[in-house]
Amino acid sequence: MTATAHPLQIVAATRARTAANVARDRFAAPETMSALQFIAAHFDAAATACDAYDGTTNAPFMEMWRALADARELITRHKDSRLPAEVIEYVTAPLTASPLPTLPRLLPPSERDAAEEATLRAELDRLHADTEAADADTESWFRAVLAVLAKWKRLEGAVDVDNRRPCNRVRVAELHLKCIACGGSTIRFSVREWAVCECGKGQTWGDALVCDCGYDCPAIRGEAAN
Ligand SMILES: [Zn+2]
Ligand SMILES: [Zn+2]
Repeated sequence: MTATAHPLQIVAATRARTAANVARDRFAAPETMSALQFIAAHFDAAATACDAYDGTTNAPFMEMWRALADARELITRHKDSRLPAEVIEYVTAPLTASPLPTLPRLLPPSERDAAEEATLRAELDRLHADTEAADADTESWFRAVLAVLAKWKRLEGAVDVDNRRPCNRVRVAELHLKCIACGGSTIRFSVREWAVCECGKGQTWGDALVCDCGYDCPAIRGEAAN
């Protein structure tokens, strides 16, 4: 830590170090456990690089961004790490002055999961709004955020499984698709990028999707499997 460390620099380093400690202490299956150790090491490297910034050169931040990119790659590959890729944005937000990330909609077919999504989103909104706690005790605040995000990742996994159940196919389509002409959800995906509704209206996939899933949309997966 340099004597000239900027408060925002300290906040970013503290968030990275907190993410490292949470990843290191997290319990998971053996394969995920070893990935979590590497993720923790990358977050620690990011924190150390952030500490090293003394106003003379941006090299420490470039080193920090590299370490965070490595962490992101592992996080994306290991869904059981129960860390969303958005964790990186929480670490960089103090430095980039970007708003805190928002999570994509899960659109669960089950009402119980939808209620849990709403609860977790509300809890995260409450934490985001509590800037006083975020400043006063960055570590406790970020641990609370990471705890909500871990529950979120577990819910995301459950919704993904539920989305694939044949009995949920119609419900998933209703939630994820909408025809631009009639508003219906009975849409057939023909060639890539093109879809045709029951009413006869042709449209692009992007027009029919009202979800945040993109090409991984379970409604499309269900159609392709048919
Ligand atoms: Zn239509
Ligand atoms: Zn979707």
